[in-house]
Amino acid sequence: MTQTSDTSKRNWHPRTSAVHGGTARTPFCETSEALFLTSGYVYDSMEAAERRFKNEEPGYVYSRFGNPTVRMLEERMAALEGADDARATATGMAAVTAAMLCQLKAGDHVLSSRALFGSCRYIVEELLPRFGVTSTLIDGRDLDAWKKGIQPNTKVVFLESPSNPTLEVINIRAVAEIAHAAGARLVIDNVFATPVLQHPLKLGADVVVYSATKHIDGQGRCLGGVILADQAFITDHLANFLRQTGPSISPFNAWVMLKSLETLDLRIREHGRNAELVAASLEGHEKIGKVFYPGLKSHPQHELAMSQMSQGGNMIAFEVKGGKDAAFRFANGLEIIKISNNLGDAKSLITHPATTTHQRLSPEARAELGIDEGLLRLSVGLEDGQDLVADIAQALARV
Ligand SMILES: *Cc1c(COP(=O)(O)O)cnc(C)c1O
Repeated sequence: MTQTSDTSKRNWHPRTSAVHGGTARTPFCETSEALFLTSGYVYDSMEAAERRFKNEEPGYVYSRFGNPTVRMLEERMAALEGADDARATATGMAAVTAAMLCQLKAGDHVLSSRALFGSCRYIVEELLPRFGVTSTLIDGRDLDAWKKGIQPNTKVVFLESPSNPTLEVINIRAVAEIAHAAGARLVIDNVFATPVLQHPLKLGADVVVYSATKHIDGQGRCLGGVILADQAFITDHLANFLRQTGPSISPFNAWVMLKSLETLDLRIREHGRNAELVAASLEGHEKIGKVFYPGLKSHPQHELAMSQMSQGGNMIAFEVKGGKDAAFRFANGLEIIKISNNLGDAKSLITHPATTTHQRLSPEARAELGIDEGLLRLSVGLEDGQDLVADIAQALARV
C-alpha cells in the first residue's frame, strides 16, 4: 500500500480533504478507494506474525482493530474536522457510548444538556448510573445551570447543538470554558450541525461524535459512527477500549461513508438552501404555530447559532395548530415528504417526536423540551425546494 494522499496537508480546505483525505492506493493505482472486505490478514512467516502482534512492525492484524478501508474513512474524517485522529464505529450510538465509557469509571459524574437524542439521553440518564457514574441533566441554554451543575468529580460534559428535536442552540465556547475550568472534557454530538457547518473542536470541544448514518451517508443506506479527538485521547482512552469491546464498523459501510464524504459539502449546502425556503414558507402560515429553525431570525438564539454555524442546517421543527390530530392529518397528506424517523437523507423525512423518537419520555419531560403534541420534525432533503414548499402547502390545505 502506498499512501499517495498526504492527510498531514492540513492547509487544504475541508472540501479538498473530503475528496482526497486519507486515500491509500494499492499497487493497482485505482482512482476510487478500494473496498477491503476482509476480517483478517496473512503474514509472510510466523516471525512476521509475532512482530506484527508485538507492534514491532506496522500492518493490519484483524479488522476488529483496523482495516484499510475503515482507516481511509477515519483519516478523511480527521482531515475534514481538523482533528488529530478519528475512529469509526458501527453506529452513532456505539460512538457516543464508547466516547463516554472509555474515559469514565465508577464515582465519576457527567453533566449534560437535557435536550438530547433519545438514546443519548438513555446512556446519560439510565445506563451510566447503573455502573456508578452519576449524571445531571440541565437546560443547556442556561450558562448558570452549567456552572451550578459542575461537581468536584465531573469528568465529562456532554451536549448536542442544535438539539433534537427542537433545535436548541448551546454556547459551545462558554460551556467548554466551564468544563475545562473544572478539569472535565467536553464531548459534543455534532450530528445536526454536520462537519460542514460547525467545527466544535475549534470552539473548544475535546471530543466530537457523529452518527454517520445521517448526513455523512446522506442517502439512508448504512449505519455508522465516528469519534474525533486529539491523539492523546485516542491513544490513552479510546483505541484500546474499541479494540477490546469491538463496536467496529463493517468495511463495506465504511466504504459507502468514505465515498459519501466526497459530496458532503455540496449536499449540506443544498440541504440548507432548501431548508431556508421551507422554513420561510412555514413561518406565519395560519395553520402553523411555532417554527424552530436556527437560520430564522425568529429563533431565540439565531445570533448565537449563526456565530457557531455557517448555515442553519436542514432540520426544522414546527407545530401544527390543532395538536396530534392535525399534525397526523397533515403528515398523512404529504406526497413527496416521507414519514420516517431517520434524518439527513436526500429524501425529505418527517416524524412526530411525541409518539416516536421521544415517546419514552414522560409528558413532563416532553413539555420541558418543548415537544408539543402538534410538533413535527422535518429533515429537509435534496428535492427541488419549490416542490417541497408546494407539498407542504397542499397537505396543510387538507388540515
Ligand atoms: C441518529 C442520532 C444518533 C445515533 O446514531 P445511530 O447511527 O442511529 O446509532 C445520535 N445522536 C444524534 C443527534 C442522532 O441524530
